[in-house]
Amino acid sequence: MPAIADLSVEELDQQLESIRQEYEAFRARGLKLDMTRGKPAADQLDLAAGMLALPGNRDHFTEAGEDARNYGGLQGLPEARALFQTLMGAPADRIVIGDNSSLALMHDTLVWALLKGVPGSVRPWSREASPAFICPVPGYDRHFAICEEFGIRMLPVPLTGEGPDMDQVEALARDPAVKGMWCVPKYSNPSGEVYSDATVERLARMQTAAPDFRLFWDNAYAVHHLTEERRAIPNILDLCAAAGHPDRAFVFASTSKITLAGAGLALFAGSDANVRWYLARAGKRTIGPDKLSQIRHVRFLRDDAGLQRHMDGHRRLLVPKFDAVADALEARLGGTGAARWTKPEGGYFITVDGMDGTARRVVELAKAAGMALTPAGATSPHGQDPHDRTLRLAPTFPSLDEVKTASEGIALCILLAGLEKRRA
Ligand code: PLP
Repeated sequence: MPAIADLSVEELDQQLESIRQEYEAFRARGLKLDMTRGKPAADQLDLAAGMLALPGNRDHFTEAGEDARNYGGLQGLPEARALFQTLMGAPADRIVIGDNSSLALMHDTLVWALLKGVPGSVRPWSREASPAFICPVPGYDRHFAICEEFGIRMLPVPLTGEGPDMDQVEALARDPAVKGMWCVPKYSNPSGEVYSDATVERLARMQTAAPDFRLFWDNAYAVHHLTEERRAIPNILDLCAAAGHPDRAFVFASTSKITLAGAGLALFAGSDANVRWYLARAGKRTIGPDKLSQIRHVRFLRDDAGLQRHMDGHRRLLVPKFDAVADALEARLGGTGAARWTKPEGGYFITVDGMDGTARRVVELAKAAGMALTPAGATSPHGQDPHDRTLRLAPTFPSLDEVKTASEGIALCILLAGLEKRRA
């Protein structure tokens, strides 16, 4: 189909009629498809099936000879922390391993910052008049939900393809009420973009009016490559230290999408002061994490090379699904101007921008045709997409056949919504 913008009124009506018929035929198939869930599929979890038998009968002693079944070990086993040094970009003594969810660590650090302040704070963040976070958009809805939960103002900043618009970020950081910023620096959720070296350097170097400003550096997709090139980003902890802001970054990651999504390891890293601060708070909350899970990870992954090899297995399973979405979108929407979409080199999502004012309609059309899509607006603070155009597709969980069918159906909905918009 030619570009929607070039169609005459008669051509537009013809196209609308024919695409509507196709949509009705699709709807009549009575399908039930779900492209909302950014979680690993069963075959991905099967890659870690061997873990279910680990650490194995009586293999519960740490390298230091301690019994991992018992309480204690707040910071995590040294051998497990050593395993994740490359992933976290920090030496083992500046890594903490919690239980299974990095989102829980982010939640807790933010709550502790509100209640107690962080190293460098004059007072707890909750005693500031109106604390705010910089939020790159589109972003991860659960980051925004934490801010919403605790009344932290969210300041949206657009992503540029190289990370957040740094001119805007630097301008916002001049306000002392701005205490932090969400960053998913690699294969971002949901745009898949990778922050450029210049972006990371500016984040480390920039002046912030708040002396206790923190980057919440959520490197959730650090090793989740979709191409043979393993993209690397600069080490934020080293750059912050070199710029004279050693405490600026709280680094988070987890093995949720490496080993087992519900039984992985959550990781925190930071400066010495930040790690001490973290452990002082965490020590009030728990007597110690699940160290059997830590031993299991050490036995199974062994070292960083083992971890990377394991991720190659995920890549082989995921690439066909991401390709299927790209092919379906291109086949139906290429050249129409009805949408543009990302071609991520890693991560779990594809972002599709339809024509302005169509995203909610697309979700509605998809729902009526039996396809669940992430609610329009979910990737913006407070669920409000000012352009009503951004859709997040999550192709990992459904089977390849389901992804193919759903992508064709979604492309049809996007085209129909675009034609309707033009005709309106
Ligand atoms: N951070 C990002 C950017 C995510 O996309 C997700 C899950 O989708 C998480 C964190 C959740 O991580 P965890 O399973 O470690 O809680």
